[in-house]
Amino acid sequence: MKTKIQEKFATLFGEGGEMFASAGRINLIGEHTDYNGGYVFPGAIDCGIVAKIKPNGLGKVRAYSLDYDEFVEFGLAEEDKPEQQWARYIFGVCRETAKRGGKVEGFDTVFAGDVPLGAGLSSSAALESTFAFAINELNGNGIDKFELAKIGQSTEHNYTGVKCGIMDQFASVFGKAGSLIRLNCKTLEYKYFPFNPVGYKLVLIDSCVKHELASSAYNKRRASCENAAAAIRKNHPEVDFLSDAKRVWLDEVRDEIPEEDFLRAEYVIGEVQRVLDVCDALERGDYETVGEMMYQTHFGLSRLYEVSCEELDFLNKLARKMDVTGSRVMGGGFGGCTINLVKEELCDAFIAAAKEQFEAKFGHAPKVYNVVISDGARKL
Ligand code: ADP
Ligand code: MG
Repeated sequence: MKTKIQEKFATLFGEGGEMFASAGRINLIGEHTDYNGGYVFPGAIDCGIVAKIKPNGLGKVRAYSLDYDEFVEFGLAEEDKPEQQWARYIFGVCRETAKRGGKVEGFDTVFAGDVPLGAGLSSSAALESTFAFAINELNGNGIDKFELAKIGQSTEHNYTGVKCGIMDQFASVFGKAGSLIRLNCKTLEYKYFPFNPVGYKLVLIDSCVKHELASSAYNKRRASCENAAAAIRKNHPEVDFLSDAKRVWLDEVRDEIPEEDFLRAEYVIGEVQRVLDVCDALERGDYETVGEMMYQTHFGLSRLYEVSCEELDFLNKLARKMDVTGSRVMGGGFGGCTINLVKEELCDAFIAAAKEQFEAKFGHAPKVYNVVISDGARKL
């Protein structure tokens, strides 16, 4: 990928330029916890975006996407928003940097990536954080890393219409090889934990389905969580978010809230605890416990939170049957990937069985990605 970028850059823009990169991400555990003020536990992965960039002194950006084989040129004022979706991410990052008082000089760039698009690995965050990081470096802006992540998030909000949380950009900017990052979504405090699963691999199995209900179901889940939190708050005023509540506090209000809200809250409170348990396990190097927690999360997402689907439950059940160490649906649910922690010697057999049996049942093959926890935004 780097060589191709170098060659194309030389052809289009000549000598010079510097290389920057950033990464997609996984979330090991901590699902549907962000809007409940709980923890997420992501890490950057070994696929991402690489860009070569050189200031051009022209007050505009000239960008070439190798993957789309497309050249776009745009100015740096608000009204210069380009048509192409991919270019809007770069434009948005320029605008959001400028809004924060950062200097943004015109530049030439050639870039490419290897994060599968729309698979739940956040290729868009990889793209944003590559450019947020690079523009900050090249212009000597000194914007801190958290603000760089927010530049990516605001780009999604204001230039592509995706109202995302901070996790994807946070992981992409802060990612470190061999570490996952526990982020407290209420206080934004974060802490690195070692993730060096020697003898295991992280395998993502992409069901390649996306069931429609996602957004209406999401709003209903949020309402249930808020309702449960409000009921608990009457007894325990310190509860800002559902994640602040103890399990016994939920039991106290069981008769006051609909059964459905109770189950949703039961999942969320359990999930917050599971993130903490996984962090403890990682400090001991206990990957078997990590795996067991992943299965518990899947159970909760499927039966209590009810955001799984037939395809994902099928993949999870197969993993359990084959003694895969850990497996769960990753992301919001109703489709996308399962994330699996698999003993190395079991990997080939598991992947082969998943492909064959999934295709036999659902009529199309899943996609498989092996990922390693790696560095996030950086200069190469
Ligand atoms: P994801 O879940 O992977 O983030 P999104 O729909 O949010 O999916 O973002 C995908 C979009 O990001 C693509 O449509 C494209 O505009 C941009 N993008 C991601 N990777 C690349 C790439 N390698 N080259 C150009 N654009 C990219
Ligand atoms: Mg995205």
